[in-house]
Amino acid sequence: MSRLVVVSNRVAPVDESKNQAGGLAVAVQEALKSRGGGIWFGWSGDIVEGTDGPPRIAESGRITYATLGLTQRDLDEYYNGFANSTLWPLFHYRLDLASFSGRTYAGYQRVNSLFAGKLAALLRPDDMVWVHDYHLIPFAEQLRAMGLSQRMGFYLHTPFPAPEILVALPAHESLVRGLCAYDLVGFQTESDLRCFVHYVKYEAGGSVEELGPGRGCRIRAYGRNLLARAFPISIDTLPLAQLAAQAAESVQTRRLRESLVERALIIGVDRLDYSKGLPQRFEAFQELLDSYPGNRGQVSFMQVAPPSRGDVAEYQAIRRELEALAGHINGRYAEFDWVPIRYLNKSFNRKTLAGFYRHARIGLVTPLRDGMNLVAKEYVACQDPADPGVLVLSRFAGAAKELDAALIVNPYDIRATAENLQRGLTMPLQERRERFEAMMTVLKGNDITHWRRSYVESLAAPLGDAGAAA
Ligand code: UDP
Repeated sequence: MSRLVVVSNRVAPVDESKNQAGGLAVAVQEALKSRGGGIWFGWSGDIVEGTDGPPRIAESGRITYATLGLTQRDLDEYYNGFANSTLWPLFHYRLDLASFSGRTYAGYQRVNSLFAGKLAALLRPDDMVWVHDYHLIPFAEQLRAMGLSQRMGFYLHTPFPAPEILVALPAHESLVRGLCAYDLVGFQTESDLRCFVHYVKYEAGGSVEELGPGRGCRIRAYGRNLLARAFPISIDTLPLAQLAAQAAESVQTRRLRESLVERALIIGVDRLDYSKGLPQRFEAFQELLDSYPGNRGQVSFMQVAPPSRGDVAEYQAIRRELEALAGHINGRYAEFDWVPIRYLNKSFNRKTLAGFYRHARIGLVTPLRDGMNLVAKEYVACQDPADPGVLVLSRFAGAAKELDAALIVNPYDIRATAENLQRGLTMPLQERRERFEAMMTVLKGNDITHWRRSYVESLAAPLGDAGAAA
């Protein structure tokens, strides 16, 4: 069996004793273990003066963590620059926030080339390489340029945009050519796959063979054959449900419950990111208080929003906007014994969040665009089956394709979102149970183990089933 090598921007060793690791970190560990061990390669998170040396190696069991530092310039151009100021907004349909610069694109290519060169020295001929996310699209092309022919797969955690959006990127063609250097390209949803296929057909002049429902497409473009397929990412459904049952009586959940004094809780949990639709969400909550005044003093909205990518100007701007909006709404509606919005710029660990989700009457997940949105899935898995809460979910989250038993909303429609909040707050137990059970059936059928197995099996499939150089 060939060894697995995982490449991602950040390497996140899992401290199993702390129960804090996110689902993806655990999934990567499990994928490596299932192949009898392997390498996890990427940025260490450190900023260094120079990048001449070999990767730093740490071993744990049969997993090797190989990490590199980056210089401040690398970080500015590759990470804060092209990845997070160009690709992230572009892939989330925010052309208005995307900046295009030849300098940051050169930095992005340079860091990909640096990473590829360092990994090449560690690779064996029959290794299988699995690269994650938009930071590292050109990685395989860089390895191929060094003459490497190992099986290589890519998985995009963000949306893949419609070609009409993508072609605004001056480097769109070189980016897609980079994707085609892989043998397998995985997307979150069928609609992301469709956008890629559309580009291949009408922009790249490539050919596409449909392999049947859910089985993806064989692509021939830029002199390569590859398989492109949707693999919707998921969560560790049953362990998380168990954790939530325990967390229902944790100190934090008890303190939250007591602080609410019988009021219903609406919860939102998101990185502080403009793709998450937080201003519209705050406005929808305000609309709920305006249109259904019986909720005043009776419902609290808690938004957990840990700051993210604070070096990028657009993230500073959204943070200021939300501070103003939360202050405005609270100033307008608060009573001496009730504050409508609890706005928290900090993160919580899995167990604490699981208890909070379980106590919340509504999980409010309203991104303007999101690859999947794991919080939506986590909220459902954490509910008490006997008395579950209601998920109010944006149609623009990848998760809406699977969780269609949620109350699906258009987050730009503030009024309709408020109506659905009211509907959720007043929904009869029987309907809540039916919707919860439908969603849990989906989440049990496609959990994180299913996700990583189906990806790795697809990547390992014999040549001709996955992809190959034409
Ligand atoms: N998360 C967390 N603590 C927090 C906020 C978020 O552990 O305070 C986790 C959350 O449980 C989820 C992940 O961060 O697993 C966020 O993933 P999602 O797909 O929702 O959004 P992303 O941040 O990847 O855009």
